[in-house]
Amino acid sequence: MIVVLSVFVAFAVAWLLAYHRLPALLWSAVYALLLGLCAFYQVWPDPLLSASWGLWLLVSLLAIPSPLRRYVLGAPLLKVFRRILPAVSQTEREALEAGTVWWDGELFSGRPDWKKLLAYPAPRLSAEEQAFIDGPLRELCEMLSDWEITHEATDMPPQVWQFIKDRGFLGMIIPKEYGGLGFSALAHSQVVMQLTTRSGTAAVSVMVPNSLGPAELLLHYGTKQQKDYYLPRLAKGLEMPCFALTSPEAGSDAGGIPDFGIVCRGEWQGKSDVLGIRLTWEKRYITLGPIATLLGLAFRLYDPEHLLGQQDDLGITLALVPTDTPGVHIGRRHRAMTATFMNGPNWGKDVFIPMDYVIGGAAQAGEGWKMLMNCLAAGRSISLPANGVGISKLSALTTGAYGRVRQQFKLSIGRFEGVEEAMARIAGNVYVMDAARVMTAGAIDLGEKPSVVSAIVKYHLTERGRQVINDAMDVHGGKGICMGPSNYLASAYMQTPIAITVEGANILTRTMIIFGQGAIRGHPWVLKEIEATREADPGKALRDFDRAFFGHIAFTLSNVARVLWLGFTGGRLVPVPGAPELRHYYQQLTRLSSAFALTADMAMFLCGGTLKRRERLSARLGDVLSQLYLASAVLKRYEDDGRPQEDLPLVRWGLLDCLNRIEEAFYSIFENLPWPFVSWVLRGLIFPVLMPYGREFAPPRDPLGHEVVGLMMAPGPARERLTRGVFVSADENDPVRTLEDALAAVITAEPVEAKLRRAQQDGRIARRYADQVAAEGLRHGIITQSEHDLLKRATELRRRVIMVDDFPKDFGKSELHQTTQPVTFEALARRKS
Ligand SMILES: Cc1cc2nc3c(=O)[nH]c(=O)nc-3n(C[C@H](O)[C@H](O)[C@H](O)COP(=O)(O)OP(=O)(O)OC[C@H]3O[C@@H](n4cnc5c(N)ncnc54)[C@H](O)[C@@H]3O)c2cc1C
Repeated sequence: MIVVLSVFVAFAVAWLLAYHRLPALLWSAVYALLLGLCAFYQVWPDPLLSASWGLWLLVSLLAIPSPLRRYVLGAPLLKVFRRILPAVSQTEREALEAGTVWWDGELFSGRPDWKKLLAYPAPRLSAEEQAFIDGPLRELCEMLSDWEITHEATDMPPQVWQFIKDRGFLGMIIPKEYGGLGFSALAHSQVVMQLTTRSGTAAVSVMVPNSLGPAELLLHYGTKQQKDYYLPRLAKGLEMPCFALTSPEAGSDAGGIPDFGIVCRGEWQGKSDVLGIRLTWEKRYITLGPIATLLGLAFRLYDPEHLLGQQDDLGITLALVPTDTPGVHIGRRHRAMTATFMNGPNWGKDVFIPMDYVIGGAAQAGEGWKMLMNCLAAGRSISLPANGVGISKLSALTTGAYGRVRQQFKLSIGRFEGVEEAMARIAGNVYVMDAARVMTAGAIDLGEKPSVVSAIVKYHLTERGRQVINDAMDVHGGKGICMGPSNYLASAYMQTPIAITVEGANILTRTMIIFGQGAIRGHPWVLKEIEATREADPGKALRDFDRAFFGHIAFTLSNVARVLWLGFTGGRLVPVPGAPELRHYYQQLTRLSSAFALTADMAMFLCGGTLKRRERLSARLGDVLSQLYLASAVLKRYEDDGRPQEDLPLVRWGLLDCLNRIEEAFYSIFENLPWPFVSWVLRGLIFPVLMPYGREFAPPRDPLGHEVVGLMMAPGPARERLTRGVFVSADENDPVRTLEDALAAVITAEPVEAKLRRAQQDGRIARRYADQVAAEGLRHGIITQSEHDLLKRATELRRRVIMVDDFPKDFGKSELHQTTQPVTFEALARRKS
């Protein structure tokens, strides 16, 4: 019995040491002590004790770092790893190494330090940035009529373009010393988000010069001369930039562009024998291309005459080419859905440019891919996520109001359970998305360039945005479908696929980038192992590999111990910081982070180099990582906002949704792993308690959805926070403003309507049109004059909200369109005059 008990103690101690990730030396010391005690008290028979000492010695020799271990185990393993690790191309390596690891690293660790997350300062705008948002940004939004831009002028009016340039919208990321606004990532995101709620065309036109393009590249890699010349011009809109990477043959595989340059000597501005490049390219889809004055160009550079060095193929190179350079062809325009931002192809054949057109000069020739990947790591975190959130916030604001204002069966449609389900998804998603947007912008303002996180927010904020706008369209019914100046959703709906496609189309981002890059960058050991296999110095390679490989083994063992314990206890004993009301969620996320770390290791171990091709497995692992990240953002948002109790339904909805999606992803992994036994063991370890009975994390329940929708359908602090940043015009004829006014009026009039409804049910008033019912109610003294007036205003506004635009039969091809909403028409006519 005592033997059994002591074996049990030995296992318990192993589990405890593994759970806390204690060093091998300590393990060895603790077991030496235990064996010493067994010997002293003669607990175990001699043969068992001797065998145990033998085992202890063997394990200690293997576990404690030493030259012996390195030569006996490390060296042969290093050879195997060098053979089995997949070949990584130069472009893949540069992509993998780009940017920084941030909170994604904590999630990969299986033991996220929540205190660290909560200690990051809450992202805030400076007074100057806020003044810009309240001033020039509002002014710009008031100037924009999306219908006019997209359906009549097919461009922004000249005065709008000028305003954008004069007020520095194109130079938000350019530091003040160069005449730019020098804004934080948060301010940049806020501007793009708000503009999106008004006009997708304006948002994209502003977003592109502030995203991955000439300004960003010059800031990081330009020569002093290039910066001093171009940055002030870009900041004031004296140059219109574009950045051309995509070619017809190379879209997602941007590293495979066929465009090329040959280093040569040529004639330039009257001088002969100038060192330069002869360029040939064909690009398409280039935003701002048709009006660009400065073309950022990516191409592969070759140096067959070795004018720059000894290499023939220098690699991808970036240059800034003025579009008036002889031989540059700027083509016509593409039309991206209903958006009318400038976009088109360009090309050139054997165009000579001097070497100082290369960004960073000859020294940066061939460094283009690295430059792009590093800039993408930050840029991808801002613009497109802001775009997705902008569309979604507009959907939340308008659908919340429309759900209350629009009635069917004598009830606001938002009160019907079916509609409520869609509306809850809208509000819950927006809370999660905005939390992630702000947290990520905050990380960039702290100096991070979180490459994996940028892929997570790019993918999930545009994908959730697609779900949100679909739901919003469904709730709006015909009102969402019929196009015209009073339709505030259709444009956003049609433009949603643009953000999904650009800067890494979403399928590819999910299946290749999030986990593909995350597994190497975010994992505590994998990159170290890979780097060790590439190390030229044999001694250093062996030392580094030994440390990384055995670190990895210890990490995996620790995760087994953690997952098992956290699974059996439901994570309830994990000490966590933060609001007590969210304690359960911190604990579950800790538990699932450990489960993720273990599953990721198993997948990497079993698939090895083929994991790269198993895109569906990679995608599902990426889903787990992504939802862990989004849930972390929700927890942080709640703390940063000062734990507002009114937001709790939104917070809970968001967290439950993330947990449910994590569980879904895990089950898809289990169901599709090609090794049923491993799948069974993993499932048993991760979900041990409920495994035989079903799932543990249900989607948000209906009563919670009901609470969430309640917050959307009435003005209040939670709704205000949720939809902050949606532009609502001061013009009372603007359709979104009308909707907001209608919401307030309808809520005020609801008790009056209730009185009249009761009177109708009692038979005191005959059932007729609303205005007749109100008049009869007044005559019978059922309602007062002021109540009658309230009702009249609500009825008028409701009518304006539910009406849609109509047009002449030929859609007014030859004349200004007509609309049943004279107010909107007048507003348009006023602008036109
Ligand atoms: C409106 C608009 C504006 C743009 N602006 C610019 C710009 O300013 N500058 C610029 O250089 N480019 C620009 N682009 C190009 C954009 O970034 C590319 O369109 C994008 O990278 C996708 O390329 P593609 O359209 O050729 O799709 P493809 O590469 O043909 O991809 C088609 C589908 O296959 C998927 N796919 C491809 N490879 C894989 C894989 N290995 N695994 C899984 N899925 C895969 C993709 O996810 C996508 O769903 C713009 C594009 C559009 C539409």
